[in-house]
Amino acid sequence: MDGEAGVKQDQTTLAPLVRAAESNIAFAFACFLISLLYTMFMGAGRGKNRRARFANARTLQTVSDHAFTEITAAVVNSEPLYDTQYAQATEEYRAFQRDHGTSFFLADRMCNTPATRTIWEKFGREVKPGEQPIDRILDRQLTATTNVFDISQTRSVREPVSTVEWEAREVNAQRCNDFLEEELRGVNLILVSIPSAEKIPLTSEDTRHGKDLQRFARAVHTTFDEINELNFDFALGGVGSSANSIVAINSDRVELKYPDATPGEARARIIAHELAHALMSHQQEFLKTYDRADARAGWPGDERDHISRIHETEAEFFAQHIMKEFGISATEKYSREHLRRYGLFNQEDLQETRQCYERSIRTAQDLLDSRH
Ligand SMILES: [Zn+2]
Repeated sequence: MDGEAGVKQDQTTLAPLVRAAESNIAFAFACFLISLLYTMFMGAGRGKNRRARFANARTLQTVSDHAFTEITAAVVNSEPLYDTQYAQATEEYRAFQRDHGTSFFLADRMCNTPATRTIWEKFGREVKPGEQPIDRILDRQLTATTNVFDISQTRSVREPVSTVEWEAREVNAQRCNDFLEEELRGVNLILVSIPSAEKIPLTSEDTRHGKDLQRFARAVHTTFDEINELNFDFALGGVGSSANSIVAINSDRVELKYPDATPGEARARIIAHELAHALMSHQQEFLKTYDRADARAGWPGDERDHISRIHETEAEFFAQHIMKEFGISATEKYSREHLRRYGLFNQEDLQETRQCYERSIRTAQDLLDSRH
């Protein structure tokens, strides 16, 4: 896959987790590896009927050559989203996680998004006035310490938008979230916010996050201890993922990936994307691919990669369509970035991409038309 070449190969105990942190592949990886479990827990339910309507619909072709050429060009010719500074900051952040992540975890601090002031500044963020460091790290010579702050103690300093405009966008995004969350429930998916501040004792029910995580534990029939691990795992991974009928969002991490979208706008795009995977039965289709590979006693990496790209293309076109319908434009460039990196656009033959586009637009429009 695309992103793997850029991933460092350091082998520490937590290497698989740490490598996933802020990684470009985290998004796609979480969507498919974690979601293998998803299907097993999807029992019969009213969500099944809705999903069935979109099955095997990847054949119709109605969009014109001209229209599709424009759609393709918009994706292929879009500017790479993450500039050099962001890439560098991400690299430093990964190095920080690699060197210090274990100690934060062992100290029972969730703090899954901690970094030094310098790293935050490279992400275009500043430490809020009056914030106390959550910890200190020693430099390599063991002579000096550097303060460490969690992302929740920082704020963006990029592209200031007027409060009025920001709040209006947030209200609009909430309309979209309300719509999407109702649809999520319709296909029996549960939405959970994964905290990014200090590790929250799961026995404490009096916090919102504590309740979220307890619900998550019950839903996946596991213990709080295991959830502690999962919590860490989820938080280190992508900004959004689905497993066992749960769509998990790490809202603080979302701020890093979508610096100029409001929290509601970023959240809407993530929910729309994950909802699309569910509506179009991607997990089931992925499992079938997996079974075929099993039957041949080998794992066809190409086939896996190909089916992943089909799914990512469909999920993201779907999200794009929904965002457009609700007048959310801030997430558009992130969608293009996702399509370019994980979609089918690196192929010469775009016929398949076209079918994916059509299928996702039909699925999205069908959902929008069903609104009361
Ligand atoms: Zn996905």
